[in-house]
Amino acid sequence: MIEVKDQLTQEKTEHSVFNNPSFNKHEQVVYCYDEATGLKAIIAIHNTVLGPSLGGTRMWMYKSEADALNDVLRLSRGMTYKAAISGLNLGGGKAVIIGDAKKQKSEALFRRYGQFVESLGGRYITAEDVGTSVADMENVRKETKHVSGLPVEHGGSGDPSPVTAYGVYMGMKAAAKYKYGSDSLEGKSVGVEGVGHVGEYLVELLRKENAKVFISDINEEQLKKVSSLYSAEIVSVSGIYDLDMDIYAPCALGATVNTDTISRLKCSIIAGSSNNQLADENIHGKMVKDKGITYAPDFLINAGGLINVYSELNGYNREAAMESTRKIYDVTLEILKRSDVENILPLTAAKEIAEERIAAKSKR
Ligand code: NAD
Repeated sequence: MIEVKDQLTQEKTEHSVFNNPSFNKHEQVVYCYDEATGLKAIIAIHNTVLGPSLGGTRMWMYKSEADALNDVLRLSRGMTYKAAISGLNLGGGKAVIIGDAKKQKSEALFRRYGQFVESLGGRYITAEDVGTSVADMENVRKETKHVSGLPVEHGGSGDPSPVTAYGVYMGMKAAAKYKYGSDSLEGKSVGVEGVGHVGEYLVELLRKENAKVFISDINEEQLKKVSSLYSAEIVSVSGIYDLDMDIYAPCALGATVNTDTISRLKCSIIAGSSNNQLADENIHGKMVKDKGITYAPDFLINAGGLINVYSELNGYNREAAMESTRKIYDVTLEILKRSDVENILPLTAAKEIAEERIAAKSKR
C-alpha cells in the first residue's frame, strides 16, 4: 500500500510544474491542445525581466508528457541565460510540440499553434528548432507576428548557422588566448565532432587560419564533402575522443563530455556549438577542470544564432549581428578569468554574470 502511494506521489511530482525538479521560478507555463489538428504543445516562459522571451519550438516524439515538460522547463531556463550573457534585451522561453515531426506536421497544426503564440501577446517569440523548419514557421507567421528566424527573402535573418559558427570560433580563440597566451589557432589541432550546418562553417574558419582540423560525423557523404573542400582529416566517430588534439569542438549532440570521454580526452580546450555538452554540469564540469582542460561555456559561445535572430526583431542587419557575435570573444575571456579569481567553474561564472544582469534590471 505504501509503495503504491509513493508511486502516485512520484507521478504527480513528474507532472507537476511547481514541484518539478526542472522548475526554476518560471513565470508562465502554457499547455496548448487542439483536437482537430492533434496539436499538443507546452510553452514555457522562464523570465521576461530583460525583454520578451524568445526560444525555438521543438517538435519531438517524447516518451511521456513528463519528459516534454521537463525538457521545456530546462530549455527555457537555458534561453534566459543565453540571452542575458549575450547582452541581449531578451528573456528566455521555449516551446515543445509533442508529436512525430515526420508524420504529424500540417499547415493547420502550425497555424493553430501560431494562434496560441499570438494569445500570449508577444511575451513569447518563437523560432525554429529541432524537428521544426523555416517552412513551419512560415505557417506560424500566418497567425502571429511573434515569430523569428524567417527566410532572407521575407525580411528575415535566414540560416543562423554561419553566425553560430563564427561565435564558436570567437569563443575558441578567447579560450586559446587564456590557455596559451595567444589567440592564434594557426598550427593548433582541432577535432570537430559533427560537420553539419555549424560544424562545416567552423571547419572553414579554422582552415582559413591554418589550424589542423580532424573531423568526424555519422553522415559519410557530408564527411567526405567537408574533408575534400577544406582538407580536413577524417577520424572515426568514437576515435575523436582519443585524438592527440589541442581543442575538442563538439558540434553534433549534447552530453558528449562525460565520465568516459573525459578519461580519454587529451585536449586542453573544449569549445563547440552543441547545447548541454556536459552530461552532468556538476560532476563533469569539475572533472574537466581537474584534468586541466579549459571549458568555454556552451550556452555563451553558441549564442550567435540567437544574436542573429534578435537582430531580425529590429530590422535585420548582418554586419551588426556579426559585430555583436564577435563580442563573445570578450565575454568568454572575462568568464575564464573570473572563474580563476573566484575559483569556480567557467559555467558557474557565466551563470553568475547572467544572473547579475537580470538582478540589476529587476532593481530598476
Ligand atoms: P546539424 O544537424 O546540421 O549537424 C549535426 C551533425 O552532427 C550532422 O551532420 C550529424 O550527422 C552529425 N552527428 C550526429 N551524431 C553524431 C555523432 N555521434 N558523431 C559525429 N557526428 C554526429 O546541426 P547544426 O545546426 O550544425 O547544430 C549542431 C549542434 O549545435 C546541435 O547540437 C545544435 O543544437 C547546436 N546549435 C546549433 C545552432 C545553429 O545555429 N544551427 C545554434 C546553437 C546551437
